[in-house]
Amino acid sequence: MTKYIFVTGGVVSSVGKGITTASLGRLLIDRGFNVVPLKIDPYINSDAGTMDPFQHGEVFVTNDGTETDLDLGHYERFLGIDLSRDSNVTTGQVYDTVIREERDGKYQGQTVQLIPHITDEIKRRIYKLGEDNDIVITEIGGTIGDFETPPFVEAIRQIGMEQGRQNVLYLHVSLIAYLGPWGESKTKPTQHSVRALLTLGIQPDIVICRCARPLTEEMRRKLSLFCGVPNRAVIEARDTRLIDEIPLTFEREGLASLVMERLRLPEREPQTSRWEEMIERLKHPEGEANIAIVGKYTEHGDAYISVKEALKHGGIANKAAVHIHWVDSEKLAENSEDEIEENFREMDGILVPGGFGYRGIEGMIVAARYARENQIPFFGLCLGVQCLVIEFARNVAGLSQAHSSEFDPDTPHPVIDWLPDQRQITQLGGTMRLGLYPCVLKENTHAHKAYQQPIILERHRHRYEVNNDYRETLEEHGLVFSGLSPDEQLVEIAEVKDHPWMLGSQFHPEFRSKPLNPHPLFRDFIAAALQRHHEEAE
Ligand code: GLN
Repeated sequence: MTKYIFVTGGVVSSVGKGITTASLGRLLIDRGFNVVPLKIDPYINSDAGTMDPFQHGEVFVTNDGTETDLDLGHYERFLGIDLSRDSNVTTGQVYDTVIREERDGKYQGQTVQLIPHITDEIKRRIYKLGEDNDIVITEIGGTIGDFETPPFVEAIRQIGMEQGRQNVLYLHVSLIAYLGPWGESKTKPTQHSVRALLTLGIQPDIVICRCARPLTEEMRRKLSLFCGVPNRAVIEARDTRLIDEIPLTFEREGLASLVMERLRLPEREPQTSRWEEMIERLKHPEGEANIAIVGKYTEHGDAYISVKEALKHGGIANKAAVHIHWVDSEKLAENSEDEIEENFREMDGILVPGGFGYRGIEGMIVAARYARENQIPFFGLCLGVQCLVIEFARNVAGLSQAHSSEFDPDTPHPVIDWLPDQRQITQLGGTMRLGLYPCVLKENTHAHKAYQQPIILERHRHRYEVNNDYRETLEEHGLVFSGLSPDEQLVEIAEVKDHPWMLGSQFHPEFRSKPLNPHPLFRDFIAAALQRHHEEAE
């Protein structure tokens, strides 16, 4: 019998539902269950692909090329599995299916309604994931009380009735607020949010309290009484800088055993040792590297969350702490040579992440030039490799007006140009070159040294590419195309010869990096940065 766990949120968004879902998933996987997570996003967009990272953070990409909410990144990293399009459902998708079925005549004269037709479609998507798994953990985005969430809450209430309460568990993640000069802890917002959930017909089984300070016995007692859960089902989730440690904190709080008991699953000895080892490495680094991320969303940390995590994994692989320094690419473009030097003097590595649009591009090109001229390890991701190539074309190959046709359609040297087939596209959603594609590696290159294999698969999300008309010229000047599509028509990786480590990938390696399985390119980038750190210290 498949078990269904539902995670809802209270009081504020970003309260930690995603990490809670991922952490609980980890604990259940460590007990040998097949677990699949599902993120429900109650917005109307079909997917996250067209959404602004300033508002919603990073757009994550799965193997099958779905552009999803960044929580899927947390799930993949914590659970160590690859997810598919079935793990992200939005209001837009649900209505789209129902409206299309209505046009197809499937409803045979019925009035098509929120209940049961929309709720049925929501349940169908949840049950579909349950077919091949022991446990489905569904996280409902937003907070209880939002206008968009009731159809989803109604659907999960019905699942409770249909599957029986021993097969369904409701977990509510809420905030403990702090007020006044004495920083008094307030449980009332959580009480109200549970009450709001009750009006929709759901009594939570467990309340997870996100808090800045420990829960006192008195607070636990109050929360238990007013939220209608046993004392031990009030779980503390204290703020932490080390999100990877949360599964272990939850294990100590007894969350997994409680869930097992509640779902009538036999308790099994958890295998948390690999995760614990990884946390030990994270907490006791032997070296350190300073990495500058040069991008335009530096004010919004979530916009580059997979990049941040992958850098951390690179640190884990090298037993080193990675300190990230944010450099705003727009400001960098206006900086004097001295100011640029000031930005990068202490840096052991420079990374330019992905992005769209002209804003900040010239600053990213400045960063690539600085890294090349000063032999600083450099890693360019998607837009980052495009900047690497533009800089190289301008300053090494003598094509001073080289550009990408994305940013200057009239450039005399479009060293980065449309991918074949992309030029004609008018519909923007879901039409980029997306998801896994193979890439063949050239021997005796940094890329080959990292992967140690001839063919790799990586995730993509782009419309532009290195222009083949310029490949020969660039190669003559010392750029190496170390990764190509199997038909050799698309450049996948470029690296600079005579440089300790300057590499860019047209794909997004950050999406495949996991804490228990750090990505080889991030591992080697950090290794190169550590080497530089040592040399500078001597
Ligand atoms: N804007 C560039 C392109 O479309 C880079 C995309 C990205 O960095 N994801 O090719």
